[in-house]
Amino acid sequence: MAKYIFITGGVISSLGKGIATASIAKILESCGFKVSLIKFDPYLNVDPGTMNPYQHGEVYVTSDGAETDLDLGHYERFTNARLNRLNNVTTGQIYSTVLARERKGEYLGKTIQVIPHITNEIKERIHIVAKESKAEIILMEIGGTVGDIESLPFLEAARQFSLERGRENVIYIHLTLVPYIKVADEIKTKPTQHSVGTMREIGIQPDILLCRTEKTLSDDLKAKISLFCNVQANAVIEALDVATIYEIPLVFKNQGLDKIILRHFGLKPKHTDLKDWQEKVVDRVLHPKHKTTIAVVGKYIELQDAYKSIYEALRHGGIANDCQVEIKKIDAESIELEGAEKILAGIQGLLIPGGFGYRGIEGKIKAIQYARENKLPFFGICLGMQCAAIEFARSVLGLKRANSSEFIKYGKEPVISLLEEQRKIKLMGGSMRLGEYPCRLAKAGKAYQAYRKPLVYERHRHRYEFNNRYRRRFLKKGMLFSGIYPKKNLVEILELKEHPWFVGVQFHPEFQSKPDKAHPLFDQFIRASMLFAARRGA
Ligand code: GLN
Repeated sequence: MAKYIFITGGVISSLGKGIATASIAKILESCGFKVSLIKFDPYLNVDPGTMNPYQHGEVYVTSDGAETDLDLGHYERFTNARLNRLNNVTTGQIYSTVLARERKGEYLGKTIQVIPHITNEIKERIHIVAKESKAEIILMEIGGTVGDIESLPFLEAARQFSLERGRENVIYIHLTLVPYIKVADEIKTKPTQHSVGTMREIGIQPDILLCRTEKTLSDDLKAKISLFCNVQANAVIEALDVATIYEIPLVFKNQGLDKIILRHFGLKPKHTDLKDWQEKVVDRVLHPKHKTTIAVVGKYIELQDAYKSIYEALRHGGIANDCQVEIKKIDAESIELEGAEKILAGIQGLLIPGGFGYRGIEGKIKAIQYARENKLPFFGICLGMQCAAIEFARSVLGLKRANSSEFIKYGKEPVISLLEEQRKIKLMGGSMRLGEYPCRLAKAGKAYQAYRKPLVYERHRHRYEFNNRYRRRFLKKGMLFSGIYPKKNLVEILELKEHPWFVGVQFHPEFQSKPDKAHPLFDQFIRASMLFAARRGA
């Protein structure tokens, strides 16, 4: 039977619960256990797919095409767990399932209530993941902060879980804030006491506290937290601010968190090894030999979370090349106003991420033109690749009105457009190409040089495609279509032949990049940006 860990958050949001959860999973995996993870999101949307990035941040896509919370990105980056649509559960999903069952009369006339019907459905989701993943330890992060009305059914299900499975098979970990008050020059434990108090009202006594703090916690302070919160002193774990998120598993392991968890479960570590992680990830992030500056030109730049996986994948490309990647976040509209030349001066690579809608597009196109003409390494992802096609059509083919039919529905030159079969689908989200698809690579291209294999699988999230009517004209002027989805003959990768590194991809490679295994395209993009700097310096 699997073991279960629930992770809750207290005091305030944004303490890094997702990264803490991923880090705990990582140290347990390093002890030889197979892990799986679930994120519970207490909102009523069925999934974040239709939510505005300002509301939600990045939508992370799993290989089976589920649109999920960005914490699943952390889970996949830190561990070897393969996640899918079962690993992100929302209140919306739970209620839709229960209500559909009620309409079918499956409850045989009973009154349907939060307890037990909603909580049973939540527990059922956990059992399904345990069964399908065959994991030995399931980690579950409950979104929001303890005390929120919305997350109550999830906490109640978590409480019931140890009644059913046995207290020895369930662990409750609470992530909390221990603030430092400058004027008093004191670290305060009261918010943590209150937060644990709220947990106890619900009926959950946390076993372990992860204390986020900017100052080291003295033994006296830990003893105080232990006493007031009724948690063993060695289970009061300090989570001090660190230079890189990839250090957190080491921080936890150094305080014996893995041992505390395994002892509770009565498990013995099969082996324990984070040496590679320390040497090949953390040390390299902390002491890089080289440096490069990459501009990310997007629409939601002011939002930290909107391009999370892109930023991480760029850092992974840096790790692979022993290079610190400084990311310059640039609002596409500022390029429309001030011009690319001024804003992109001094950078070594341009990345345009995915997105939806017309705002900022003309700025992105200007930036791409600058990169193409100045031989600046360019990496276009999804919408970024589509913009590269529009720019090429306008500037090189002279098709001044080239555009995507996403922006001009019945335009003259739709170089990016919907497929015939998609036009009939009305339901929001229904016409999207989502999840993993195969892509065949042309031997001649830079993509093949990066991947070094003929067939790759990459994740998608888009509606529009390169319009094959224009293929021949693009080819004639030096564009190479170096990746194709064979079944429907769709363009997956385009490259410029006469350019040191100009690659656009219709898919999202950032979702498969890991700190210890950078995605090959990010690895090569960073390498190209370093070469660009060397050329300029010479
Ligand atoms: N808006 C574009 C499309 O739907 C690109 C989507 C994306 O970048 N994820 O095709």
